[in-house]
Amino acid sequence: MPVTDTLTRPLKDLRISVLDRCNLRCTYCMPEESLHARGVFLRPHYLLSDGEIELLVRVFAGLGVHKVRLTGGEPLLRPGFVELVSRISAIEGITDLALTSNAILLPRHAEALKKAGLGRITVSLDSLDESVFRIMAGDRGSVKEVLDGIEAAELAGFKHLKINTVVQRNINDHTIMDLVAHFRHSGHTVRLIEFMDVGNVNNWNRELVLPSADLLKTIHDRWPLHPVAEQPVGETARRYAFNDGAGQIGFISSITEPFCGDCSRARITADGVFYSCLFSAKGTVLRDRIRDGLGADEMTEVIRELWTRRADRYSELRSHLPRHQQHVEMYRMGG
Ligand code: SF4
Repeated sequence: MPVTDTLTRPLKDLRISVLDRCNLRCTYCMPEESLHARGVFLRPHYLLSDGEIELLVRVFAGLGVHKVRLTGGEPLLRPGFVELVSRISAIEGITDLALTSNAILLPRHAEALKKAGLGRITVSLDSLDESVFRIMAGDRGSVKEVLDGIEAAELAGFKHLKINTVVQRNINDHTIMDLVAHFRHSGHTVRLIEFMDVGNVNNWNRELVLPSADLLKTIHDRWPLHPVAEQPVGETARRYAFNDGAGQIGFISSITEPFCGDCSRARITADGVFYSCLFSAKGTVLRDRIRDGLGADEMTEVIRELWTRRADRYSELRSHLPRHQQHVEMYRMGG
């Protein structure tokens, strides 16, 4: 029997941030001027160990989770990450193991990750225009490094990558059509993400949000699209297919078309705090309970109880809530 919350949403997906460090400083996540960007990251002792992550994934698998997404910061910066992937991929019940990465370190790790049992990769890429890329990545990294990472993933056998692109009005919206054109016929799916008020340091302003409906119209006028019929319940993106067979494109519209109704995602931060929503302000510390000797059976009851009383639907309520709600930082939560 799946565990369901107060809105009868089943617990199905687990997102684990395995590290809060990153080699980029994306303005919508960890802008350079934010305190954290000055390098005040969690020291190794505070991070969940591989064994603690494995225990937690086993507990969630026992509660019906089959999909695990590893996020960060930048997960590939975590020492021994490939070994962690092979431990998680071996857990009974986990049938879908995915990674979200900025791809810069993929040339070094893609093959080993494939052998370790990683199933899917989502790459963050906000523009193919080098200067726009640098503006959004905090003057770090390059388009070439990300494209080399995507190529390394392809050579290692990863197919149908998702390409996550955060769209900001007057920042990168004028470069979106080039990015869409680049990935048509590639087998990869670009997912255009409305700029969200995640965390507390990304200077979010609704004026900077370009509604997906506007982008959809612009793209459809250039390359006619039709909605993809079969879309799994709980998927964050609304997907469309190009009429000319060039593939698909997705829209993640948390601001203008919230999708809390079937949100089945639990999240754990790199230091072992459980959150039931991307926009949560308050979480439950699990790491210290493990270190105090709590076993898998007791942890199972803790998680069951947390999910059963879950009622989050921030995106649906956003416009009715007072502004400047406190949220956990995106680089801690991992998206
Ligand atoms: S706002 Fe929270 S409840 Fe709604 S879809 Fe996002 S994570 Fe789920």
